Amino acid sequence: MTVDIACLWNDFLSLRFPKSAQVDMSLYLAAQKSLMRFPHRGSKQLQKIDIWCNKYGFTYVFDESYIIIGSNMMQCKEAIALDSSPENHAYHLGILLGYPSCCSIFAKIHHEEDLDVIEVSRRGLYEKKYRLIDTCGYMNGHALISHLPCKTDCNASYQIALKMLSFMKKLAEKNPSIQWFKKQIDLFTIYR
Ligand SMILES: [Zn+2]
Repeated sequence: MTVDIACLWNDFLSLRFPKSAQVDMSLYLAAQKSLMRFPHRGSKQLQKIDIWCNKYGFTYVFDESYIIIGSNMMQCKEAIALDSSPENHAYHLGILLGYPSCCSIFAKIHHEEDLDVIEVSRRGLYEKKYRLIDTCGYMNGHALISHLPCKTDCNASYQIALKMLSFMKKLAEKNPSIQWFKKQIDLFTIYR
């Protein structure tokens, strides 16, 4: 099945996920992650997500707060089970969500609240090419990676961001109607 990316993208936006979901979705399309994890808003939104997933060939699993979307049902189930497990699952979930192992280890050894503090404390600390892995714009949908890097010069994260940027360029050329692809390139190409 050849998928019309512009259709898929616009239908995805109509699902009303947080803006940051655009980063996750484009990482998925760029084959830099195989699962996406989003908060959901309950049955009405889930119905729409179901239609979208069927139309574009995705599978999904959800619990009361989150939905995991991917192409492999086993992986989706594994991720949702990890998500609700009381044990520290940050490493395994990170790996499943496509984060580098160094950054998944980093997530495991810090509390979730600490990661938020670390993210804020790093404002302006990403230098030169590593500004590609700055996640300060993630909540607004402007980032090239969807995880907090283990350090401000994490090379594994940088490699993902580079691949994402070149993928964005291809998408933008083929889909000039989608402004967001172009915005991503404008924001990040200067640091490359
Ligand atoms: Zn790392």
